[in-house]
Amino acid sequence: MLPPTPPRSAPPSAGGEPVYQMLWDCKFCGTQKLLGVDHRFCPSCGAKQEPEWRYFPSEEDKKLVTDPKYAYHGADRACPYCQQPNSAAAQFCVSCGGDLSGAAEVARKASVVAGSAEDSGKADDLVLKRFQAEQAAAKPKKTNWTPFILIVVAIVAFFAFLFINANRRIAGELTVSDLQWTRVIAVERLNTLTGSDWRDQMPPAAYNVSCSTRDRPYTVTERVQTGTRRVDRGDGTFVEQPIFENRSRTEYRPDQFCNYTYDQWQKVRDVRTSGGADDPIVWGAVNLGTREREGGREERLLVFFTKVDKPNDKPLEYRARDEAEWRTFEIRQRYTVNYDGFGNVVWSDLKVQAPR
Ligand SMILES: [Zn+2]
Ligand SMILES: [Zn+2]
Repeated sequence: MLPPTPPRSAPPSAGGEPVYQMLWDCKFCGTQKLLGVDHRFCPSCGAKQEPEWRYFPSEEDKKLVTDPKYAYHGADRACPYCQQPNSAAAQFCVSCGGDLSGAAEVARKASVVAGSAEDSGKADDLVLKRFQAEQAAAKPKKTNWTPFILIVVAIVAFFAFLFINANRRIAGELTVSDLQWTRVIAVERLNTLTGSDWRDQMPPAAYNVSCSTRDRPYTVTERVQTGTRRVDRGDGTFVEQPIFENRSRTEYRPDQFCNYTYDQWQKVRDVRTSGGADDPIVWGAVNLGTREREGGREERLLVFFTKVDKPNDKPLEYRARDEAEWRTFEIRQRYTVNYDGFGNVVWSDLKVQAPR
């Protein structure tokens, strides 16, 4: 019996895309390129189409689904009792009458990129495929976890080391060895500078502007269709989906490139004053020249400590919050303090030692 001549009607489609028929070769009589929808059975010997025999056709052999009664219900499902593939619309097996609720989908062909090496347009060599699958299954899959475990142990140990040492407290004694203050006033000058850039990148206050037309590069990103993916729908049909990629290219457009002059405040010098515990804390005298201004003031009030048990170590430097705090320190005054596990002073634990 010949398959019915398909009517020239609009092809059924999912989401508007054309639906094509997978091909299959009859393994009983050797008939090739049978159609996934039109030939549910081999027209020569009557053998039933098996989902694993299906393959994507070559470009010349591509045929649309034209059967007006065709509707997509999902991938075929294998009968859990006799393994017979059934349409997803069926509730009971066509072969044994078994209940198909909960039946698993048949295996689909892996999607291929049209025109790639995987897209051969020929049936799979099922004997070779089974052999390869058995070989892969026979190979013992052993994952060596030892390096991962060692890395995790090392990371945990490292953080435990940090945590423990940051929270350790070792008592110590300090003596104030010196008190120093520094005050700094920055002086800025309004300098005249030149620059060149695209007109929209110029500083707003630019002047003496002279521009010329130049080609300006822009990066343009586009979504480009680079290919087509063939996707098996599991019921003897497949669809083709476009593959998109973002492509960047450089485009040139004429624009104004300008040379210009602008004024900018730049630091030119510091006015610095400093002294010890007995000197009054003062700001230096600022003599501003033309186009000059004060840029900012900074004060550093430092207390230097030596360790009572190691007086020859480099003095420890403490920065007081303000003058009131700095004035509470006196040279030769003793303090108790704590060190953490790394030997850093915990300044918040600093306490003046009660006179004995
Ligand atoms: Zn056949
Ligand atoms: Zn069955």
